[in-house]
Amino acid sequence: MLTQLIITSMTAPFALPALPYESNALEPVISKETIEYHNGKHLQAYVNTLNTLVKGMVYEKLNLEEIVSKAPAGPLANNAGQVLNHTLYFEQFHPVEVEKSKVPEAQFDEAIRKAFGSFDVFKEKMAAASTGLFGSGWAWLEQNRKGNLVIVQCPNAGNPVTEGLVPLLGFDVWEHAYYIDYRNRRPDHIAALWQIVDWDVVSSRMK
Ligand code: MN
Repeated sequence: MLTQLIITSMTAPFALPALPYESNALEPVISKETIEYHNGKHLQAYVNTLNTLVKGMVYEKLNLEEIVSKAPAGPLANNAGQVLNHTLYFEQFHPVEVEKSKVPEAQFDEAIRKAFGSFDVFKEKMAAASTGLFGSGWAWLEQNRKGNLVIVQCPNAGNPVTEGLVPLLGFDVWEHAYYIDYRNRRPDHIAALWQIVDWDVVSSRMK
């Protein structure tokens, strides 16, 4: 949680957010190799490009969330979006060896039931949004203006923040997120992610 608060309220130059666990802590759901490439190469590249693109622009004075909300479609919005997306992504998982509830608690669980009928139906719909997204992008569980939970598919670097909405849980379906471990089997990767979702982190994002 701290990582997100720091980076989303930070201004340029941005730094790679620290992982809240060791790079092998999500194995076998996500391998150390995938984490090292995804975080250390892909996210680092988005951070570096973002820092280059904001230099000398009005965006240099804005924090990450403001940049994502205000930048017009193009390289700046894409790179800022991906920095925000991956910060939320890496923060929302817990080490496999840490025993945590596989279901959200009380208030958040109620919001899930209200929106989807049951936790299982929610998981099915989130998986369907993730596996059914054509090409690269993200499936998000978001909180809309009425406070209700909805699932959206966002192509490429999309994030609910650009619509003024609140991202709660994001599944990255770019191939770089799963190809080393699962090759073309995106549905298997998505199914495995439920083992490591940290519901305390996800529910703490509700406003
Ligand atoms: Mn990614």
